[in-house]
Amino acid sequence: MEPGHVRSIRTCHRKLDTRKDFDRLNPKARNDAKPVLRIIPREQHTISRKNISKAALRVLYRLNEAGYNAYLVGGAVRDLLLGGHPKDFDVATNATPDEVKKLFRNCRLIGRRFRLAHVVYGDEIIEVATFRGTGEEEGDGDRHVVDGRIVRDNVWGTIEEDALRRDFRVNAMYYDVSDFSVRDYVGGVQDLHDRVLRLIGDPVTRYREDPVRMLRAARLAAKLDFRIDPAGVAPFAELGPLLSGVAPARLFDESLKMFLTGHGLKSFRMLEQCGLLKFIFPATARALKRGDKALRSLIERGLENTDARVSEGKSVTPAFLFAVLLWGEVRDLAHTWTTQGKDANESWARAATHVVAEQCQRVAIPRRFTITMEEIWSLQPRFEQIQRKKVFRLLTHPRFRAAFDFLLLRAAESPAMGELGQWWEHAQQLPHETLAAALPLHHAGTAIDVAEPVRSGTAPRKRKRRRKPAGKSGAT
Ligand code: ATP
Ligand code: MG
Repeated sequence: MEPGHVRSIRTCHRKLDTRKDFDRLNPKARNDAKPVLRIIPREQHTISRKNISKAALRVLYRLNEAGYNAYLVGGAVRDLLLGGHPKDFDVATNATPDEVKKLFRNCRLIGRRFRLAHVVYGDEIIEVATFRGTGEEEGDGDRHVVDGRIVRDNVWGTIEEDALRRDFRVNAMYYDVSDFSVRDYVGGVQDLHDRVLRLIGDPVTRYREDPVRMLRAARLAAKLDFRIDPAGVAPFAELGPLLSGVAPARLFDESLKMFLTGHGLKSFRMLEQCGLLKFIFPATARALKRGDKALRSLIERGLENTDARVSEGKSVTPAFLFAVLLWGEVRDLAHTWTTQGKDANESWARAATHVVAEQCQRVAIPRRFTITMEEIWSLQPRFEQIQRKKVFRLLTHPRFRAAFDFLLLRAAESPAMGELGQWWEHAQQLPHETLAAALPLHHAGTAIDVAEPVRSGTAPRKRKRRRKPAGKSGAT
């Protein structure tokens, strides 16, 4: 937060019901989280209703009119205070899901153990959650591990409890549309000011409850340009292995948030720096550990290009991104097997299958993406086969565009690879006949041998590409 966004904080030392209640509700948080409510009135913060989606405002007003308390909460409040424009808006209320459903025709209830209401306006979904309790008072008997998290069946709570079960202090602020104030129960405003991510309560306990919080720390630090409190970083090495118990589908969603929302490169660097990369992308961490500079360049440029596309509002696909992250291991395995005398095509195919299978145990990449990844990889050796029929076949391959973008990222592997990329760049711009005339009927050694005639022959005339680019690449 820019200094001055919250110009001064009027502290309202309203104690929770009783100290005893607080202790009972959350014995761990008791030590760290301060049970002090601060109310920041409208004139002392910069949240304007202009920046809140109409749908979220309608939900808040409707709940208020019906006599319930309802607040904007979580990342949206945090991002609004930082001057950002949140994409998703979450609402917390004391109405139960059934009560919410009665108020909104466009509402559906989701979730098995903890039920949530989704209020739908066109393509916008406002998630409305009933204040959640910590459930500590009921002992451990009703706890379950779901998707790697320790969860409890529906336990409704107070707003104070709801604040304490959130992950970071900056994520536990509530915007009250009835008086436009911000309610801060755990010191989130201070952390925003200090640009730090601090867990609510004891980090080890909170990570054990839900190991994904470790990834969220890294992701949010990257997204917000915050540091993680040292006490929040310290347990990573010991607790990182708990990520293997998290549902791979959840880690897929989390990976998309890390890498495909505009701050992928920063997230990647943060994951590496925190030592978390190996727990979710073991093959990537292994390949990088072998000290491969070209691979690092490929990954960093791939992520950089993807971030640029996101910021320009262009589409991006997970397939390209995962192809980038796993390339090093696929390539090295394929090379090992080919040098052992195995058939090249078969080695590539087996390497791809092997690496994808291993990765999917951690991060469930849906099949439609793994198919594309395998195509992108298997087309790579074909770029080196400069022979008339093969070149034209490759140019019309549905995955040509993505595979070509991938080839460009490989420029750092060797000067020859860089030239190969340029050759294909020119080849696409040449009229069919010129390209055909420049190409040998049979394979003429390396691609680079035949690159020269194309570049120095008839000046490459710019003309429309012969065919529409196939598929989205995420990298151009
Ligand atoms: P983003 O900018 O990615 O949306 P976010 O903080 O809003 O960040 P969400 O996944 O949208 O992340 O979650 C909304 C809110 O729910 C968080 O701000 C936090 O208060 C709470 N929350 C989310 N995940 C967890 C978790 N694993 N443990 C505790 N609280 C969580
Ligand atoms: Mg959010």
